[in-house]
Amino acid sequence: MRAQETKIGITSTVPVELVLAAGLTPVDLNNRFINDPDPAGLVERAEGLGLPRTLCAWIKGIYAWALGHPEVATILAVTQGDCSNTQALMELLTLAGRRVIGFGYPHDRDEASLRASLAGLARQLGTDLAQGEQVRRSLLPLRRDLDRLDELTWTTGQVSGAENHLWLVSASDFDGDPAAFHTRLSGFLAEVQARAKRAPVPRLGLLGVPPIMSDLHRTVVELGAEIVFNEVPRQFAMLPPESQGQDEDLATQYLRYTYPYDVFHRIADIARQSERRALAGLIHYTQTFCFRQAQDLILRARLPLPILTLEGDSSGPLDARTRLRLEAFLERLA
Ligand code: SF4
Repeated sequence: MRAQETKIGITSTVPVELVLAAGLTPVDLNNRFINDPDPAGLVERAEGLGLPRTLCAWIKGIYAWALGHPEVATILAVTQGDCSNTQALMELLTLAGRRVIGFGYPHDRDEASLRASLAGLARQLGTDLAQGEQVRRSLLPLRRDLDRLDELTWTTGQVSGAENHLWLVSASDFDGDPAAFHTRLSGFLAEVQARAKRAPVPRLGLLGVPPIMSDLHRTVVELGAEIVFNEVPRQFAMLPPESQGQDEDLATQYLRYTYPYDVFHRIADIARQSERRALAGLIHYTQTFCFRQAQDLILRARLPLPILTLEGDSSGPLDARTRLRLEAFLERLA
């Protein structure tokens, strides 16, 4: 098999250990879309091909990026636990000639069902759970270093909220090469040790899907605050359990992952991290036309901290109105 034939596109965080165990190179389509030199152009291209204005920009961007990269011939799509639009995306990519494999997280978080899903995925990828387990263990030092990076964000402030976000979202596919990613991460951690320690206030948490806007973290800093908890990217990075030595395997690791199951597991994690990190407030980012917008009501009902809900539609910098709302929210917290 030529190198390019080993690339497999992923639509969300998947059990990447199985992908790697099968000798494949994961390519997170979300990261490729948003880091493209012209993400807005990709969305326009998808609309030009007939996708509706009233469809989330991430789906359109992923679709257009995938069309432009036929070398990613297989797509592993999360059919349950990520996005209500994924089925249509799978069908569009099938029409475009891609091989599409589905993987579902059981909504009820049932362990036996998850174990069956993992075994089914391993079979489809041409590997097995034992090999996936070996990869899981080999990734632990890397995941521990990501945990260290996360800790340096909220304990000493030596890692910024923007850097934290970027490293943690990139851990969904390790930029395709876990060893090279780990080398870069080790270099980054060595570099930040030399930075002065600081205690940013007010300390904020960012909830929800990764923002499509390019400068949310930077704007928060400009306005005198810092995001020290990136909820969903932290979940994507699958950091080791808080209690050291806790016994895990692939299935229990993916049961601990809060994002694909019901919102109440997310809320328990957010509440724990808000207290641990002494957060003053939360920003809930919602994407225009995303079904997850409806969860804002539940987050507000269950979380005791002040919450600002920000909605984003297209890539690029924050608009003036959103910046003003952020400013007013931070004034309230001061
Ligand atoms: S933002 Fe929402 S609708 Fe868009 S891809 Fe993500 S989960 Fe799906």
